[in-house]
Amino acid sequence: MTVNRTLRTAHELVEAGLVDAAAAEAVSRVASRYAVAVSPAIAKVIDRSDLNDPIARQFLPDAAELTLTPEERADPIGDGAHSPVTGIVHRYPDRVLLKAVHVCPVYCRFCFRREMVGPEGLGTLTAAELDAAIAYIEGQPEIWEVILTGGDPLVLSPRRLTEIMERLSAIGHVKVVRFHTRVPVVEPERIDAALIAALKASGKATYVALHANHPRELSAEARAACARLIDAGIVMVSQSVLLRGVNDDAEVLAELMRAFVETRIKPYYLHHPDLAPGTGHFRLTIEEGQALVASLRGRVSGLCQPTYVLDIPGGHGKAVISASAIEAEGGGCYTVSDFRGNEHAYPPKS
Ligand SMILES: *Cc1c(COP(=O)(O)O)cnc(C)c1O
Ligand code: SF4
Repeated sequence: MTVNRTLRTAHELVEAGLVDAAAAEAVSRVASRYAVAVSPAIAKVIDRSDLNDPIARQFLPDAAELTLTPEERADPIGDGAHSPVTGIVHRYPDRVLLKAVHVCPVYCRFCFRREMVGPEGLGTLTAAELDAAIAYIEGQPEIWEVILTGGDPLVLSPRRLTEIMERLSAIGHVKVVRFHTRVPVVEPERIDAALIAALKASGKATYVALHANHPRELSAEARAACARLIDAGIVMVSQSVLLRGVNDDAEVLAELMRAFVETRIKPYYLHHPDLAPGTGHFRLTIEEGQALVASLRGRVSGLCQPTYVLDIPGGHGKAVISASAIEAEGGGCYTVSDFRGNEHAYPPKS
């Protein structure tokens, strides 16, 4: 069944054959708590015959989302602790997040900002708030990079984006602009000449970090959208979340990273899932994550290796959490493990 508009209610999901009528009531309850949106491109890649489809699991509401665990929190990565003005998160000295908009073309069931995004979320910055955010960036000469996130900044119209980019272009100390987005995958048709021109309108080095978690998200249409961005001179990197039932499998993860590299997207971050409310069914242990990440080494090209990170709750930033391959033995001696798990002395004993 072809879907030609974004599905937002239990009724629409049932009609499209994505949710069983028997589950409609539970889906409705979840939808009244957390925003729901399934774009046509995503509806198309969901395998309706697979009850455990990894794409469905990311986007279709699940009654499990109503189960909260004690360690979960509304602001899992502590954005609030580092927000000097509305719309800005300034945690690291040389870069800021600029959150101009809090809506997304799809809503991920594991979203770390699920309490802030959606039609009931923090909305779009007003003209006065945007002025204050730009003034903040202007006033902090150590800010080298501006990262547009949200929400998904690529839902803004090319005209709005161009306005923001032109204001950044006037700030000499800002050298790099980065966008974090799912749009090339979930609404590839949006990546047209006008949007690309808008993304580049700052004249700064422009990066797009694409969020995708399963190789099937990189459909032919999605890959073509990325090619349009890259051919226009935009550098692309990837960002994925390690999710139980989606990509917690060595071969799926390897295929995902290969799909990025084939699309000329350099794997950047693999995030350990955050402690967002109602997302316990997606979380795996750090040991499981470390084993999966270690399995990529040797299995796939060095180009395909992401950095495994955890956003430390409370706003302390990201930490690399992959297991170390090297262990100090004292006296300048180490034991180092190869990709097969065999250990070697460094420096060699003979
Ligand atoms: C994740 C994050 C960044 C970007 O970090 P990089 O390591 O540069 O990708 C910047 N600011 C905040 C507040 C973040 O949470
Ligand atoms: S696209 Fe990002 S901000 Fe939007 S729902 Fe998904 S994870 Fe959250």
